[in-house]
Amino acid sequence: MSAERPEPVLVSACLLGRACRYDGRDNADHELTAELARRGQVAVPFCPEEAGGLATPRPPAWITAEGAAAVLDGKAAVRTEKGADVTAAFLAGARAALDTCNAHGIRRAYAKERSPSCGVANTHVGGQLVDGPGITTAFLQRAGIEVKGVEGRRNQSSSSSSDSAR
Ligand code: SF4
Repeated sequence: MSAERPEPVLVSACLLGRACRYDGRDNADHELTAELARRGQVAVPFCPEEAGGLATPRPPAWITAEGAAAVLDGKAAVRTEKGADVTAAFLAGARAALDTCNAHGIRRAYAKERSPSCGVANTHVGGQLVDGPGITTAFLQRAGIEVKGVEGRRNQSSSSSSDSAR
């Protein structure tokens, strides 16, 4: 019969080379791009923090307590390093991510590890790296979207690999 249709997948835009990180840089991951092509997946780039209305560059921010689930449940906030409350923007970005998934029929996402939005295995709480997902990832997971974490900057010739930031 006919060939399989390419699968649309949501991908953290910074992993695809968009300079949308809080510090105005990207996390371009050439290995991810090649992996997606091999699997017949078509990336839909998305940055939840920009989609939520935050500027680039922007101050670093993190979850104040517990983890992403607490933010989704209204029990914790997201604040910048200077204490500004950016919870509403982070939640708006998470909702926009799910809207994008629904609009494209997306059931799988690839997201940048350690981000307070996109982290999967690790995120930032209280300025520390901890186990657990970021806010957009937690929101997508609650909706049944499979989210895989990606380190970023693999197979880069010009970037430092000592990226502990998100
Ligand atoms: S990790 Fe997520 S929120 Fe941060 S720049 Fe990349 S896409 Fe945007």
